[in-house]
Amino acid sequence: MQEFGKKNPSVNLSNLGINVGIAHWNLSPDELVKATLALGQGVLNDTGALCVSTGKFTGRSPKDKFTVKDAITQDSVDWGDVNIAMAPDTFDKLYDRVCAYMTGKEVWVRDAYACADPKYRLNVRVVNETPWANLFCNDLFLRPTEAEIATQNHDWLILQAPGFLADPATDGTRQANFTVVNFTRRIILIGGSAYTGEMKKGIFGVLNFVLPHDHKVLSMHCSANEGKGGDVALFFGLSGTGKTTLSADPERALIGDDEHGWADTSVFNFEGGCYAKCIDLSQEKEPQIYGAIKHGSILENIKFVEGTNTVDYADSSITENTRAAYPIDFINNAKEPSYGGQPKNIFFLTCDAFGILPPISKLTKAQAMYHFISGYTAKVAGTEVGVTEPQTTFSACFGRVFLPLHPAKYAELLGKKLEEHNDVNVWLVNTGWSGGAYGTGSRMKLKYTRAMITAAMNGQLDNVAYEAHPVFGVLMPATVPDVPTEILSPRNTWADKEAYDKKANDLAKLFVNNFAKYADKASEEIRSAAPKVLENA
Ligand code: ATP
Ligand code: MN
Repeated sequence: MQEFGKKNPSVNLSNLGINVGIAHWNLSPDELVKATLALGQGVLNDTGALCVSTGKFTGRSPKDKFTVKDAITQDSVDWGDVNIAMAPDTFDKLYDRVCAYMTGKEVWVRDAYACADPKYRLNVRVVNETPWANLFCNDLFLRPTEAEIATQNHDWLILQAPGFLADPATDGTRQANFTVVNFTRRIILIGGSAYTGEMKKGIFGVLNFVLPHDHKVLSMHCSANEGKGGDVALFFGLSGTGKTTLSADPERALIGDDEHGWADTSVFNFEGGCYAKCIDLSQEKEPQIYGAIKHGSILENIKFVEGTNTVDYADSSITENTRAAYPIDFINNAKEPSYGGQPKNIFFLTCDAFGILPPISKLTKAQAMYHFISGYTAKVAGTEVGVTEPQTTFSACFGRVFLPLHPAKYAELLGKKLEEHNDVNVWLVNTGWSGGAYGTGSRMKLKYTRAMITAAMNGQLDNVAYEAHPVFGVLMPATVPDVPTEILSPRNTWADKEAYDKKANDLAKLFVNNFAKYADKASEEIRSAAPKVLENA
């Protein structure tokens, strides 16, 4: 085996069963960019970012994510369609087959870590089949110093082999691609998919087990930033609701855009970079993200304006899920190390394409718990012909697919945090539709959403009048600085009030039906925060 680059002299791949031809250890971003270009696996755009195609998979594949059922996980993991079990010996055979596939190949190895708070640091070693996947890991995970690399051992290994295709009959997978997490061997094994998000969210899943289970730390699918006075805000939300967009705020230091832990002494980022959606990205609306796309960043699945190397951000012909990956310090006012104190404001972001929920509302503790457990969003339908109704999603804790434990465990931890810090404000923010559902109304203007959360964080909503929403009971402020008053109550914005009332009642029913599966684990107080359904409406 030929080895290049910097590493801890006492570690090697052979001990892991990986016997490659050439291993490049911890190359610099520039070296990884050059290697990618030399292999013809990417091109540079006119701002110097590396543009790659992730191939067949342009998103994660949750149905192909497995967890090894063993002594550690057997009684703790919430088994089912989110956490699909794989037997330990099935894993062992698959791991050996992936290693055999890697034999003689050229690979890129990276030492990285997760969790910016040193108390919870988790060292990760990644072995990649392509240099650009290794650059992704450099950008997204936390970056050890050279001195740390010289002595670093790994807690977890990610072996990513997109070119290895599983045979379901032999390998116990559903199809050719898979992500398997093994808590005993501490390995994330990825095959058949080159989508980089599998690595990032693979480690997120691990931390969603380790932190609450071993340390009583609440792991969260949220972004976080900090004001000049040190006040921390969290933004929870499912994909596309605005975590990355709204946490990038020139007036506040960015802690992180997607995954955080809430410990007794800190709120800390798990990652060292951001992974921003870039469909319709514009310099004017999202200057910080736009500016972060430069040499060292990666652009996935974008297209150029024909005949140029200028990205056409409006082009969704490969996927709607075009992405930019960049280290957090590419955002001007990023906080490093990426942790802060206890949160003062928590925002639950929902992209309600039905146009029912208010653009901002204040929640009681019980309503906060109810909405956290519900994890509602409604996305606009895909590009399928004839599908015009928004699709509702209820994903507990705003991230059900990433949670190995039962959602009640995370809800319990959040409940305790809200009890301990009873000065925390919790807000529900609808970044979705206003003036009617998708098709009639339009998406809330980003500048208004930004103005609403800024007002909330600056205390400008502390002394305004509030009105309870007739169905959801959440409190809607009567005025918000720099926001037209008429949009604050969603019913006002619908031309057809009866249609609004009917749709609001339909949505309330969906909430109630969804909550039924958690009701036995929720207190009477939380259950009473449910929306009010009119049976005969
Ligand atoms: P993921 O978990 O997939 O990373 P996310 O929650 O980080 O998703 P963003 O990347 O912030 O989501 O995506 C929000 C998208 O919605 C952006 O493309 C943003 O420009 C767009 N958008 C439009 N209007 C709004 C609004 N009012 N508030 C927030 N985002 C908006
Ligand atoms: Mn994001």
